[in-house]
Amino acid sequence: MFNRLDESFQTQQQFVSDASHELRTPVSVINAQCELTLESERENTEYREALDVIQRQGHKMNRLINSMLEFTRLELHPERYTKEDLDLSELTEDVCTDLALIREKNITLTCDAEKNLRFCGNRELLTRLLSNLIGNAYRYGRPDGHTTVRLRTEEDGLLLSVQDDGIGISPDDLPHIFRRFYQADTSRTGEGSGLGLAMVKEIAEFHGGTVRAESEPGQGSTFFVNF
Ligand code: ADP
Repeated sequence: MFNRLDESFQTQQQFVSDASHELRTPVSVINAQCELTLESERENTEYREALDVIQRQGHKMNRLINSMLEFTRLELHPERYTKEDLDLSELTEDVCTDLALIREKNITLTCDAEKNLRFCGNRELLTRLLSNLIGNAYRYGRPDGHTTVRLRTEEDGLLLSVQDDGIGISPDDLPHIFRRFYQADTSRTGEGSGLGLAMVKEIAEFHGGTVRAESEPGQGSTFFVNF
């Protein structure tokens, strides 16, 4: 028990340290931008450009903080998330219908779900899991590409998968992508926080499931969730 407590404390410490590190960059950019802009009198357009930079960094911090809060809420208070008997096929189709409307980068989203698959789970969390995986398929997908969401019964339970034909993940990065704050290629992540897949893993485990990914760089990736 002592070992477990020690381990959990270390995980928390690591989280606080990683989170502070992630927040330091946007705060530094905001400070630097303010200092630079206030050094002398400027044209209106320059003030506007400075505010644009500050606003972008503010949004970034906001996203990061929201993801962190969501993450710790599930970890510290899993009892707040109740499970109900639900139609996972319908939930999957609904999330796909909504996200297909985005048509980001003109990527086509297809949903191929077996009908009437019942599952005992938390609606909000399962929606989040699917949205994170589909969001990544868009973010790292290729323009005019395809993303396919599948749901079917297997011998040992349900298998949910999200497949894209995007940039893929290198074999060096693949073992680490479910770690908090891990980003394979920071130049391409843009909107990301590095918490999306860690959240997917946490949600899968909350439902007694597991996650894994297969990928071929340049060809695409598939994420599997086994319930
Ligand atoms: P982020 O917010 O950076 O997307 P995630 O935790 O969702 O963070 O993903 C971690 C990293 O895994 C990403 O930064 C990216 O490098 C890689 N990754 C995740 N999903 C995909 C995907 N579908 N295709 C290629 N790389 C991906």
